[in-house]
Amino acid sequence: MKHVPALAWQGFNQLLWPAVCDICNEAICDTDRHLCPKCWSELLTCAAGDYCPRCGRDASRYGLVGGACGACQNEEIHFDGIARVGVYADALQRMILAFKHDHSELAAALAPLADAALQGSSFGDDVDLLVPVPLHWTRRLRRGYNQSHLLARRLHHSRARISTDLVRARRTHAQPQMATPAARARNVAGAFVVRDKHDFGGKAVCLVDDIKTSGATLNECAKTLKEAGAVKVYALVLAVAGQKML
Ligand SMILES: [Zn+2]
Ligand SMILES: [Zn+2]
Repeated sequence: MKHVPALAWQGFNQLLWPAVCDICNEAICDTDRHLCPKCWSELLTCAAGDYCPRCGRDASRYGLVGGACGACQNEEIHFDGIARVGVYADALQRMILAFKHDHSELAAALAPLADAALQGSSFGDDVDLLVPVPLHWTRRLRRGYNQSHLLARRLHHSRARISTDLVRARRTHAQPQMATPAARARNVAGAFVVRDKHDFGGKAVCLVDDIKTSGATLNECAKTLKEAGAVKVYALVLAVAGQKML
């Protein structure tokens, strides 16, 4: 019976400030779940499906040659593997956009999906350090938080700890949609540095980010971490953009 006052208080709160789905604004009764049942099921659909363990694009595991899909066969990739929650579309896209813009509490709903993706990958157990892809400090100041860092903090890894010793030393332009891969790579070239007292030497590192678009940012981060001595660099992202199979 001792839970009754708490429940009554929750019910009272609900009357005054009914909880709504973070994606579609439908009223929901459980404030911890963030989404209505329809959006949860749409989200889980986005998170289903096989993908290439090298680049994260949709790919059947039977279509891989030497661990790479047709789309990334000739791509230069500096990270050693990627785990993703899903494709950047539909409910997952709306949720990530909300997460990036004011709904930092969505980290609690997104982290279990990211945890599952990491555990399902071949490198999940091999990670020593989780490294959120850094924002330039001016952008973090404007937004109030780094969404990748919030996500990393919510992950339940048995032994990896978070390192923030990778920093963005200069501002980069938003990666233009139509730019060539070379232009995107130029945009982020030399943008990241490691702090003096970092301990990346000999470590297996997993970058954490919300979206992989062209992969130029993850590539540049991986290159920087390997120059600093990391032996392996993996990536964990919520979504891979623009790769939906037609
Ligand atoms: Zn909804
Ligand atoms: Zn691939």
